[in-house]
Amino acid sequence: MKLYKRTWAEIDLDRLKINYDAYRSRIPCGTEIMCVVKASCYGHSDCAVVPYLQNELGVKKFAVSNLDEAVRLREMGITGDILILGYTSPDETPDLEKYDIIQAVMSTEYAAELSACAEGSVRCHAAVDTGMTRIGVRGTAEEIADRLCEIAAADKIALEGAFTHYAVADTMTDDCIAYTKSQTELLFAAADIAKSRGIALKTVHSLNSAGGLYHYTDRSALARLGIILYGLTPDVSLNLPIDIKPVMTLKSTVSQVKEVEGGVDVSYGRTYTTPHKVKLATVACGYADGYPRALSNCGEILVHGKRCKITGRVCMDQFMCDVTGVDVKPGDTVTLIGEENGESITADDIAQLTGTIGYEIVCGVSERVPRVAIRNGERSGIYKL
Ligand SMILES: *Cc1c(COP(=O)(O)O)cnc(C)c1O
Repeated sequence: MKLYKRTWAEIDLDRLKINYDAYRSRIPCGTEIMCVVKASCYGHSDCAVVPYLQNELGVKKFAVSNLDEAVRLREMGITGDILILGYTSPDETPDLEKYDIIQAVMSTEYAAELSACAEGSVRCHAAVDTGMTRIGVRGTAEEIADRLCEIAAADKIALEGAFTHYAVADTMTDDCIAYTKSQTELLFAAADIAKSRGIALKTVHSLNSAGGLYHYTDRSALARLGIILYGLTPDVSLNLPIDIKPVMTLKSTVSQVKEVEGGVDVSYGRTYTTPHKVKLATVACGYADGYPRALSNCGEILVHGKRCKITGRVCMDQFMCDVTGVDVKPGDTVTLIGEENGESITADDIAQLTGTIGYEIVCGVSERVPRVAIRNGERSGIYKL
């Protein structure tokens, strides 16, 4: 694939390794790391990232959100365990078997449906709802254990594990810390009861990125490492105990530079009027690239190391910014997410301006933005999302 210069995302695998190593060294080695690579690695491109995780970092367990994502991994040569954290239609059970995928099972009824559609046997982890109220079997430890036993007893179900998901692992108030602890206790109490009834699950796990750092328990066989792998924080108010680096940089290109007098309206809706004579640059990126329209009149970008304000509305494919005093010309590269000369704009900065979280910003960088992998400081490949 060829890179046509307009808007692109750089995916720095050297930084991915730094983040992985930092997390790995923080978590006792008895706890295996399962890399969460759903949503094409949180928008970083599964083709760019997952083979690197497997072949260079030795990762053997992956989690995705759906069967499409799982099959993509198998087709790119991923041989380790792949767990689907979300829903698969029971009709598609034969593909779970064909591609040797582990499916999350949220109820006894769902287990029965998978079983009815299975040819041989389907590998499963039971989802246990301990407080997220999203998917999973619910109730007291006894009741959850009952459900685990029912699922394990389903005909063509190979129940290998069980997992839960934390609701507030990234929130350090006393109340939230206690909530997370109760989630952990409920999962492992249920697993203990199931075990006493002869259902010994090999892989019971609870930790997500924040869980591993703030609520570590050696009872969790795995830590499901997501956002921190990509160098973003689970919550901006946390002071992480490890140094991580954002893996994604978003770059674009200046298409035009012009000086305009004061009193000139800029972009759709005339929401910005130049206060005096200014120099404006037009940038070839817009909301169809996943650059939020909510940054209209409030975002900033880096132009040759200087912070420049977005003027007027962000359009579908372009926006304008004030580059007064900056030596810039058409064709120059600008940074929308990333660093230049010690100045930085992170996905979390953009998230704060637009009322969301960094996760949504990186997942939102759209398919038309090519992902350029960087390895040993050099471009090593170009990928479509
Ligand atoms: C997305 C997800 C994770 C990863 O969460 P991070 O906050 O990115 O670490 C882990 N487990 C489940 C079930 C998830 O859905």
